[in-house]
Order: sequence, then structure tokens, then C-alpha cells
Amino acid sequence: MQYISTRGGIDPISFTEAVMMGLATDGGLLLPRAIPRIGASTYEKWQNLSYTELAFEVMSRFIDDIPEAELRNIIERSYATFDTEEVAPLVHQGGLHIMELFHGPTLAFKDIALQFLGNIFEYLLEKQDSVMNILGATSGDTGSAAIYGVRGKERINIFILHPQGRVSAVQEKQMTTVTDSNVFNIAIRGTFDDGQAIVKSIFNDLDFKDNHHLGAINSINWARILAQVVYYVYASLHISNHENDNTVNFAVPTGNFGDIFAGFIAKRLLPEGSIRTLLLATNSNDILSRMVNDGDYSLGEVAATSSPSMDIQSASNFERYLYYLLDEEPNRCKQAMEQFADTGKLDLADFKDQIQRNFIAEAATEEDVVKTIASVYKDHGYIMDPHTAVGVHCALKHVEKGVPICCLATAHPGKFGNVVEEAIGKDLELPESIKSLMDKQSRCELMDADKNQIRDFLSANAIH
Ligand SMILES: *Cc1c(COP(=O)(O)O)cnc(C)c1O
Repeated sequence: MQYISTRGGIDPISFTEAVMMGLATDGGLLLPRAIPRIGASTYEKWQNLSYTELAFEVMSRFIDDIPEAELRNIIERSYATFDTEEVAPLVHQGGLHIMELFHGPTLAFKDIALQFLGNIFEYLLEKQDSVMNILGATSGDTGSAAIYGVRGKERINIFILHPQGRVSAVQEKQMTTVTDSNVFNIAIRGTFDDGQAIVKSIFNDLDFKDNHHLGAINSINWARILAQVVYYVYASLHISNHENDNTVNFAVPTGNFGDIFAGFIAKRLLPEGSIRTLLLATNSNDILSRMVNDGDYSLGEVAATSSPSMDIQSASNFERYLYYLLDEEPNRCKQAMEQFADTGKLDLADFKDQIQRNFIAEAATEEDVVKTIASVYKDHGYIMDPHTAVGVHCALKHVEKGVPICCLATAHPGKFGNVVEEAIGKDLELPESIKSLMDKQSRCELMDADKNQIRDFLSANAIH
């Protein structure tokens, strides 16, 4: 399988090269040259596979430069850190299927991708006898999942910036209590945007970047998307049957468009019709639901909500979908992205029919979220986090007779305890992994939001 850029500016590369490149060097995003289509008989045969066996089958359709035994081993180790062998258990609540993606070490679905990516990096660095210094800024969830993905790995150091006092207590503890010697937490006196700007400017210094083997762990790495395709396939296999025309809809709480794009890939990978529609659910940061409903892809102001991991306007993975929307013509994709960079908007009204063949969208207000958490708890005794509730709100509005809906539960409710407790009117029983955080020793540097100070710190602590 070869990989190309959405902007057409690179020669085709292998999976391994795509993982190490992250962002394509022409500024585009990497995609497989063609998405394979699985036949019905193969799909049948996958029915009884365990999660990790299925992961191998799915991933090996996209990876041909890692030997089978090695890839199986990487997958096994990536999901051995989850608290259940099922990895992504399905529960049935009030006519909905809820797929719990929060059983990894940091209790959010990003673990599914980042446990895998960390192990892939480790394997490739070993093979290439190289090292990597990962630098990233986080507003909460990604940072902790990234740290847990690479903690203790010999050839990797990780430096994660978070805004001091502006991430939740649980998120802060999850990051700073990882005291492995390769993990460097930096709290900056400033905002997430300050952190992001510092990271960007350090990456833009190409000499520094090369000399220090800088790597990124943001949501555009193809390996992350690929790891997420697996649970769509897993859910499809377990939910759809002859009673429901062998099909299923998915409700996906969406921010950067990474998760739902994995659903789009799964839809094209599986036999025609196996996945019917992807319900794209946003909070009040609704650029993507406007895109689906009106063809209006125009930036708004970022608003803070109870589902902070979806407080995003410029969705970093949207370009991947745009590439398919524009008939896989990189020149058009490049042009559209340049126009978006210049004007902050794209008019996709002419593509509405095409978009709506794959997606239905809905935006949830803060009130919708609280009401959904409260009513699902009252009626079914099931407690969900605010991100999941955005998706469930959307799902309940679009119930289609005879078509099951799978709602992706992206975070454990205990991670966003305050909002949830307020909605259900009682205290939450927190999982042991959160309770134990408060007594653990933590380690963190505090710095000004000053690029030079952070660059010097990185230099002094980088692995060579
Ligand atoms: C990151 C995140 C999302 C959004 O996923 P995208 O891939 O960015 O669309 C939803 N819920 C939670 C809990 C997250 O951490």
C-alpha cells in the first residue's frame, strides 16, 4: 500500500514513511493511494475474531512493510493496557448501542490510537537505529494519551506543554504523575493557544527540528486514523444482522474530524451498505454540522463548552474528506485549502447531496447535553460523559426504523465529573485509576510562555 498527499506534492511513500512523516512535506495530509474493498465472504469470516485479531486483519490491508509477526505483536501490546479484553465493549441502552472507547489508560478514546502509535514509533525507531523527541501542546486529553503512549520508551523523549491552571484537575494529574525519565511536562503561564504557537514556531525552525529529531503526535498521523477504523468494523460485525438488513448507523462526537473520518474509511472498506450513515455530532462549535447541513464551511469563534475536546473550529482532518469530495484531485484540494486559509471559509453548497450521502449532522447545545445525560440516566441508569452525550443527543433525533445506531462513547464520565454529577443529581463513583491519581507524586516544570526558554529546555533534555 502506497501513500499520497491530499495536495499532490510528494512521490508515493510506504506506510512506514507516512507514519514518520506525519504531516506531508507539501503541507497536505497523507492518505492511502486507494482504499481496498473487503468482499462479503471475508467480512463473514471476521465475525468471530477478537478485537486484536480483527485489528490485524484491518490494518494489514493498509500496511505492507511491517512483517506479520511484528505487526501482531505491536497490536497485542497496544491493547494489553486496556482494562478489558474486549477493548471496546458494546452495551445496549434504550434502543441504542453504545460502544465504550474509554477503557484505555487515560479513560478517553484517544488511547486507542495513541497506544498503537507509540508502539509503532518505538518499533520503527529501533529498526532505523534512530531517536525522536516528541513536542506537543495540549488542552487536556491528547497530552495525557500521548504521554501514556510513549512513557518508558527508550528511543523517545516527550515534551508536552499545557496551560497552567487551565486543564482539569484530573487531566493535569494524569499528565504530571507520569514520572518516567523520558516524560517532560511543562506548564506554561499562558493559554493553550500560546502553547500551540510556541510549538509551531519551534517546528518551523527546520534546522532545530532536524538536529533534535523533533516529532509530532497530533491528530493528523495516518496511523491514528487507521487504529480507529478497527472499532467501526468491530461494531458493524457485532451489531448488524439479517434482522436489520445487515447495516448500522454511527453517531460520532466530532471535533477534529479524525474519528468520523475513520468511520468514512471503514464505510468504504466494508461491503457496500454495511455502514449506512455517519451521524456527525458537534457541540455549539458547529462548523462541521453547518458544512453537512448547509454546505457552509466557515470558521466561527471557538466557544468553551462542557465537551472541551470538541471545542474546535478548524478541524485538522477535514482536508482528508475534502480530497474525496473533490474527486481525489489533489490540485482542487490544494486550491480549496489555500482559499480556506485565506478567507476562513469554503462554500460547499454544490456538494450538499454528495456530502449527505455519507453524513447526517446535528449540533447540541449545552442544555441538550445536560438533558441527555439526565434522561438517559433516569430512564436506563446509564451514565455518560458530555462528549458522548453530544453524540447520543444526535442519535436520538435521527432514529431510523430498522437501522440500529451505534453511539461512540469517547470518554469515561468520571473524567468530566462535575458536569455529569450536576446533570444526574448525585455523586459519581470514580474509577480507581482516577482516585489513585490524587495521592501520586507529580513532576512538572513551570515556565513563561516564552519560546526561547522552552527551546533551551528541550535542547538540554533532548535524547540524541
Ligand atoms: C478528541 C475527542 C473527541 C473528538 O474526536 P475528533 O477525532 O477530534 O473528532 C471527542 N471526544 C473526546 C472525549 C475526545 O477526547
